Amino acid sequence: MNLTNEEQKEVIKVMESQMLTLLHGEYVKKFEEDFAIYHGVKHAIGINTGTAALHIAIAALDIGPGDEVIVPPFTFIATASSILHNNAIPIFADIDNKSYTLDPKSVKEKITDKTKAIIPVHLAGIAANMNELKEIANDHGIFIIEDACQSIGAKCNNKMVGSIGEIGCFSFYPSKNITTGEGGMIITNSDELAEQCKLIRHHGEPSWYVYNRLGYNYRMTEIQGAIGGVQLKKMDDFIKIRNENARYLTEGIQNIEGIDPPYVPKYCDPAFNYWIGRIHPSIINMNKMEFLNKFPRSKILYPKPLYKTKLFQEKIAYPKGCPWSCTYYGRDVNYKDISLPIVEQVTNEIFALDIHPNINRETLDENIETIKILANK
Ligand SMILES: *Cc1c(COP(=O)(O)O)cnc(C)c1O
Repeated sequence: MNLTNEEQKEVIKVMESQMLTLLHGEYVKKFEEDFAIYHGVKHAIGINTGTAALHIAIAALDIGPGDEVIVPPFTFIATASSILHNNAIPIFADIDNKSYTLDPKSVKEKITDKTKAIIPVHLAGIAANMNELKEIANDHGIFIIEDACQSIGAKCNNKMVGSIGEIGCFSFYPSKNITTGEGGMIITNSDELAEQCKLIRHHGEPSWYVYNRLGYNYRMTEIQGAIGGVQLKKMDDFIKIRNENARYLTEGIQNIEGIDPPYVPKYCDPAFNYWIGRIHPSIINMNKMEFLNKFPRSKILYPKPLYKTKLFQEKIAYPKGCPWSCTYYGRDVNYKDISLPIVEQVTNEIFALDIHPNINRETLDENIETIKILANK
């Protein structure tokens, strides 16, 4: 089991202390220190969700009305909605045909004089191509916020994901590599950004009744901090099992024509969150929905590029058309006109399988058998 009496004992200690918020207790502080050390960074800041971590990160970099931020369309909604929360404009770039993470070439084409940041997503435990993205960001003087929510523990060129750009964001939702129920973390090496993130997490209030900027209540609770501290100690073991399960599935379907296992780029040490498979409909004579229906254990992952959802097609965010209608922006983005060929093909061919530590070998074997049958092998 993922959560055991080790977490339970720590939670009981928090309750006995009678101090449930980070303003009074020590558990979030300790979790933050351990998380920073694990990632080799100066600062870690405990947040109540991964979504809030992204919202804060963008605000801390002073990105807002009139600014563009480049994101992949093959991700969870929070990567893009956190830009809208800050009244800035999400601009979608295409993904790489093998890693399914942000394609640096497409990013380059999307940069304008309004671009302030790129948010690469480390997808299901596979790192985005940070070397190339960083080079582009440096060339154009723009920031990188890493959405490492679903890839905690993965590495890119031997560096922990989240520690490579200006700010890294993590989530501890139950589906992620470690969990606190709900929860998130921000990491950075910048003293100034860390200070701003802490301010925004807590009402812009550095001391009682002093308000220095617009903030929120995005604090992690002590119970989350206590669970997270124990989970972090177990994380390397979890990731080992996840990676081993992924390797087992990949080997099991290795030579089946028409089904691709996940691709691990040379620069990446993965921390598999899901195992993402790809079907070639013309080879297996079946489209994605038929495949998914005949394979109930498989998951749909992201069914369409984010820009095809109603939120973007009809631009429904703040009243009066904001942020798109903002006079600071003064341009027109029509998401109906966007067509990114790779993501549109990939969303029609992708399925995901669980490889979490509680899954057993028989389930993995059954999954391999099902794939073989569906691919007529
Ligand atoms: C899970 C996830 C988030 C959001 O995390 P929450 O903790 O659920 O708010 C953001 N981005 C990606 C890519 C995620 O997978």
